[in-house]
Amino acid sequence: MFDLKIVIIGGGIAGLAAAIALKRNKNKVVVREKNASSSNSGMAFMIHESTIRKINALTDRDLEVKDCQINNFVLRDSRLNTDHIKIKGWYAIKRVKLLNFLQSQLSTDEYRDNSDFSHFHYKEDKAIAAVFKDGSIECGDLFIGADGINSQVRNLVSEAHFFPNEINEIVCIAKHKDENIHDNTFRKYVSIKRGMSFGYIPVSNNEHVWFLQFNSKLYGSVFEKREGIEKALSPKLLAEFPKEVREIIADSDLKKSHLWKNQELKLLNSYYKSNICLIGDAAHGSISLTSSGVSSGISSAIELAECLNSFESLYTAFNEYESIRKKKNTQTIEYAQKLKLQFNSPPNSINNYALPLFH
Ligand SMILES: Cc1cc2nc3c(=O)[nH]c(=O)nc-3n(C[C@H](O)[C@H](O)[C@H](O)COP(=O)(O)OP(=O)(O)OC[C@H]3O[C@@H](n4cnc5c(N)ncnc54)[C@H](O)[C@@H]3O)c2cc1C
Repeated sequence: MFDLKIVIIGGGIAGLAAAIALKRNKNKVVVREKNASSSNSGMAFMIHESTIRKINALTDRDLEVKDCQINNFVLRDSRLNTDHIKIKGWYAIKRVKLLNFLQSQLSTDEYRDNSDFSHFHYKEDKAIAAVFKDGSIECGDLFIGADGINSQVRNLVSEAHFFPNEINEIVCIAKHKDENIHDNTFRKYVSIKRGMSFGYIPVSNNEHVWFLQFNSKLYGSVFEKREGIEKALSPKLLAEFPKEVREIIADSDLKKSHLWKNQELKLLNSYYKSNICLIGDAAHGSISLTSSGVSSGISSAIELAECLNSFESLYTAFNEYESIRKKKNTQTIEYAQKLKLQFNSPPNSINNYALPLFH
């Protein structure tokens, strides 16, 4: 199918990737994003080279990642056992860099910010227009919900169920005085303190992105609100962690830290209804501990575009897309369950740890 007018609700990574892929397949696209693009925020994430290759195959120039490579993973447990593992094909990049790169591939007609989705207009059972809270209307042949984990479009497509909230995290960027910190190494301290782990990854020559993951039952009340994080990260709480963890936190502007209260979506019954389809976190977010959100967001966007390109009927294309994504989503959920189990009951030997990387 081609020559469709496709309206994408949500201009995050999945929505932008979908727009680029669908435009390449000779469709007219428009992305409508709730926030102002100047407010592009977020920290950074791990992304696998297979995802980068998929993006580069769609764009007029390559995403610059040569300084972002992560090829060592260092794991340390409470007995101070350390394991060094070589990892291949992983990069750590800032969210804003990827968003800006993807946005640069779209024209001003194809991307409109400050557009908060409200509802659809229907003719019989088909959506014919998306209506935004400012009263503007975008007509289309096909509508894609890429509006993230709290998706409103999803409410119109499928019933959503969530896993109980178990593991949350605080994420922040540390900026160091030293300009030569990038050693291509992801470090993770596990089970040093019960129900907590700390990881940090270089994202430039003087910055690390770090995350403190915690069991919400044990520490939920300590880290209840973002405003309380500076106080909650007390020397007493961090005493069991090595000195370098406390130094990284000391080099961070905790006012800019982010508290992720993870909402993990269970497998949806359906990813589409009539001519409305879900991608990214709206369809299968946000799976704990796996570092898979960005890769699966981009993959789902590109797979949907490929299915629409390969099949003549919308129903067949959506069905094929759904079956591919459900299979992948099931594998990711299974891996996340394993990681959650490991987080709560650490294995005796550090060699038996499953890596927090899935793509
Ligand atoms: C602000 C922010 C910061 C993030 N930072 C990180 C990070 O540091 N590390 C990490 O691993 N992951 C981060 N994530 C999550 C990560 O980007 C996603 O898991 C992954 O990229 C999948 O992307 P997505 O496009 O499906 O969802 P998202 O990235 O969540 O994008 C959804 C988009 O939809 C928009 N939207 C929501 N509701 C509406 C509406 N009613 N109308 C129109 N648009 C709407 C949102 O503003 C957002 O831009 C962040 C997400 C957000 C929104």
